[in-house]
Amino acid sequence: MSKTGLSRLPAVEKTMHALGDVGLPRPVVLDTVRAAVAKLRAEPEDIPGFDEFVAAVRDELAALSRRRMAPVINGTGVLIHTNLGRSPLPDSAAGRLVDIATNYSNLELDLNTGERGKRAAYLERCLALVSGAEAATAVNNCASALVIILRHFVRGGRHEVIISRSQLVEIGGGFRIPDILLASGATLREIGTTNKTTLADYENAIGDETALILKVHQSNFYMGGFIENAETAELAALAKDKGVPFCEDLGSGAVVNTEEFGPVEHEPTPTEIIAQGVDLVCFSGDKLLGGPQAGIIAGRAELVAGIKREPFYRALRCDKLILSMLEAVSAAYLEGDTGVPLLEMLSATVEGLRERGETIAAGLSDCPLSVAVGEGESRIGGGTMPKSAIPSVTLDLKPEKMSVTKFARLLRSGEHPVMGYTADGLYKIDLRTVFPRQDEALTGAIRGALAP
Ligand SMILES: *Cc1c(COP(=O)(O)O)cnc(C)c1O
Repeated sequence: MSKTGLSRLPAVEKTMHALGDVGLPRPVVLDTVRAAVAKLRAEPEDIPGFDEFVAAVRDELAALSRRRMAPVINGTGVLIHTNLGRSPLPDSAAGRLVDIATNYSNLELDLNTGERGKRAAYLERCLALVSGAEAATAVNNCASALVIILRHFVRGGRHEVIISRSQLVEIGGGFRIPDILLASGATLREIGTTNKTTLADYENAIGDETALILKVHQSNFYMGGFIENAETAELAALAKDKGVPFCEDLGSGAVVNTEEFGPVEHEPTPTEIIAQGVDLVCFSGDKLLGGPQAGIIAGRAELVAGIKREPFYRALRCDKLILSMLEAVSAAYLEGDTGVPLLEMLSATVEGLRERGETIAAGLSDCPLSVAVGEGESRIGGGTMPKSAIPSVTLDLKPEKMSVTKFARLLRSGEHPVMGYTADGLYKIDLRTVFPRQDEALTGAIRGALAP
């Protein structure tokens, strides 16, 4: 039986020929075909007909090509969507990226002297200004910022990191602050309780073994009721008095007053926190800052300089492309927040969104689906500002001839992939997170999904 089965194994070359051009590099296609044939060889009892086999491989290749990085139209209403690449960058940053990427650059050359120059010297000044700090630097992401800060302060007998039990949080994707601390060689000195940590709790915990007081901003959850947490300013005064460094992990890192851009709460800015006497802050580049993936460390000059001298810093430093984009984003802020997409999306008005919704809906009037312009709520997302619920406008779609689930799948797998959400039996697209320049592509994608 298995012998007859094996003799019916599809030939690799014949399969390649039958597949034709699938838009993927030949070695990738060949590898997929070989793996599919090998799988049949292992299970020779059910070898399909040749055409069936080719169709299955074609499906597998199509699924593989949809795993290539591609722009996605974000109709989820979540501004910083971790699955969708967090923050979209300003056009100015993209322009700088191309310029730096496709040319040689002065990355480590001082054009004034012709000698070796300091990497990111200008960027670091801009980041310090944006953060209201004496000095700043950037590393791979906020998690690595925390790691390098801990490696700097945890040494020898000074190994304890004092942290409130209310701040031992999971950032997301299974990453937990206590695990990061332990992996950095620190000993956790947990103080207080889940709902209350007082200044006295900190004071009692400080001793010869204290490496650092760490405060972690509760970015992705909120607490209410019987709660109390020592104020940053009094904590900073205590740390100074005892000669212990004090660092705050801000996570999201809004550098402007978020409440001025949209109906959201105030998010503490690095400038405010540093003005309260904190020695160092760290925050992400691709959350509320609206830049590329990075971790910014800002604060007292000698501490930032010390961190940059850590051998480990070399392993966490940013690549020139990231630096170029961070430079463009910080410049945007220093010049007055021009063109940061996250802030533009946050400040889009409901009236403006509704107008766009009506235009798109009118453009779909001949399609086999019911379209309405509805109301929704956008979120900041990215594990930040969990209370934010920003009034928004949705396109509420219900195809006449297919299920909402199938419609969602077709929208995801089209030429311009679209990610919306389903609610109340409808497929909804929140227009706040769709760039106006994508409206036409969105209309085309909806039409494409409905086409037989
Ligand atoms: C998101 C977050 C981090 C991790 O930031 P990444 O840039 O994703 O590494 C760390 N701390 C807090 C409080 C955060 O919100």
